[in-house]
Amino acid sequence: MKHELPQLKYALDALAPVISKETMEYHWGKHFQAYVNNLNNLVAGTKFESASLERIVRESSGALFNNAGQVWNHTFYFDSFSSNSKKAPEGKLSEAINKQFDSLDGFKEQFNKAAIGLFGSGWVWLVKKDDGALVITQEANAGSPLHSGSGIALLTVDVWEHAYYIDYRNRRADHLISWWSVIDWAVVERRYNNM
Ligand code: MN
Repeated sequence: MKHELPQLKYALDALAPVISKETMEYHWGKHFQAYVNNLNNLVAGTKFESASLERIVRESSGALFNNAGQVWNHTFYFDSFSSNSKKAPEGKLSEAINKQFDSLDGFKEQFNKAAIGLFGSGWVWLVKKDDGALVITQEANAGSPLHSGSGIALLTVDVWEHAYYIDYRNRRADHLISWWSVIDWAVVERRYNNM
């Protein structure tokens, strides 16, 4: 099975100035493409050659996992944005966030704190546990809830420097403040409701 770079549902400049067209050209067009190419090269001739991306992420390790994990994570990440994003959650997801974090602002504050505090490269996730509770997790490098089995992924931020360095240089915190305005909460609601 040949893995492909997923097409975006918005234009490369649609998220600017929060995420610039130049960042998209490098992050989606070059970094993400490289992970896809590496995955195709590494999976050839292994028992995962015909496996779904999800199964590779769950079961593989080493370089194969690193590249498959990055493909899955980036697919999830770039699918979370919209040029016409829903600015806040409603319904069951909103209730769950208020229950766990007191408010949407309280959630954003804790999520950003985890993202600022993640040393080096990795991803911060909002995860729905089996019992329905929400939790924020930090994953190094290519980690994800799908790989660690911590629950269902709802939202993620990429804190690898390639995600923000063109636009924000070393100011990860500034990127994280502006980042929320392009998150489409309609997408996060669908994930929460398993739709
Ligand atoms: Mn990235």
